[in-house]
Amino acid sequence: MQQELAAFKDPKLARGLIDSISKLTPAGGATLMEVCGTHTVAIARNGIRNLMPEGVRLASGPGCPVCVTSNRDIDTVIALARIPGVTIATFGDMTRVPGSTSSLLKEQANGRSVEICYSPLDALTLAKQRPDQQIVFVGVGFETTTPLVAMAIKRAAAMGLENFSVFAAHKNMPGALETLVNDPSLKIDALILPGHVSTIIGTKPYEFLAKKYGIPGVVTGFEPVDVLQGIAMIMRQLHEGRADIEIAYARGVMPQGNPVAMAAIDEVFETCTATWRGMGEIPGSGYRIRPEYAQFDAVRRFSPSVESTIEPKGCRCGDVLRARMAPNECPLFRKVCTPENPVGPCMVSSEGSCAAYFRYY
Ligand code: SF4
Repeated sequence: MQQELAAFKDPKLARGLIDSISKLTPAGGATLMEVCGTHTVAIARNGIRNLMPEGVRLASGPGCPVCVTSNRDIDTVIALARIPGVTIATFGDMTRVPGSTSSLLKEQANGRSVEICYSPLDALTLAKQRPDQQIVFVGVGFETTTPLVAMAIKRAAAMGLENFSVFAAHKNMPGALETLVNDPSLKIDALILPGHVSTIIGTKPYEFLAKKYGIPGVVTGFEPVDVLQGIAMIMRQLHEGRADIEIAYARGVMPQGNPVAMAAIDEVFETCTATWRGMGEIPGSGYRIRPEYAQFDAVRRFSPSVESTIEPKGCRCGDVLRARMAPNECPLFRKVCTPENPVGPCMVSSEGSCAAYFRYY
């Protein structure tokens, strides 16, 4: 197994793929967008951007779950944290994301109850251990985390837990992709499609990219050879004038995805319009809790109130998430905004483009 995994880092294989990419790149070059935070980091950490032939641009899109969460959603979680008796349970990155006037970390310093957890099931355990508190789990992310949250809600229902609920801000990628490929200010020639999300949803939800827009896409993994193989397969499609959705990550993704996980999502959630940072409202791109599970919806349970929201001053995360600018083109990058003093979520999250640029460029 170790040997097999080592192959995905093999410099010889990588060199061969880089040569193929160079040979197959169209004369006018190409812009490829990745839409997965783990790919953002893999590309930056392995210096893949610098290995591309001239004219090939690797752009980072809205793949970081924390980064795409809107300021209003952050403010709503903060409003929930201020309700007496409520404990917020959330992934660590979320505590540092600045909202309009505060963050969960600041709220914690001010005496509010905020607990870091690693999975929604940890939040369930917390609810069992603290029956006198209301535990609200912050549900953000794509289909990689949504099934786990669905399972937690189903388990809470089966256990009759009355002190567990979820702030649901989950999103799905295909809706955002359609917005991006329709953006006249961007020219995306192909998409490097996410490995983790595709493990759950498979490839069917991306087919519109090829059929309706003629844009090729390849699902790939996260080791250097995976990413390069995905790019080489994209270049082959562009070279041959094809647009298909292909898989370069067969060890992780099947075309049909994971029907059990999708069924869990469908049972607990329904799609809705979601607001994405930098992209605004996108119909059908979010998941909200179905009425049958309404008692586990933190917004319905507590009706948190949020006044008007204010974006972090000078932060260009919206433009970074749409690949309209590279992180190091933001005037605050490295000068004011650093991982220790993040102005926007793209610098907070380890999967954010700004944090990746800060660490590796
Ligand atoms: Fe926002 Fe900082 Fe990124 Fe600029 S460098 S876009 S301020 S997160």
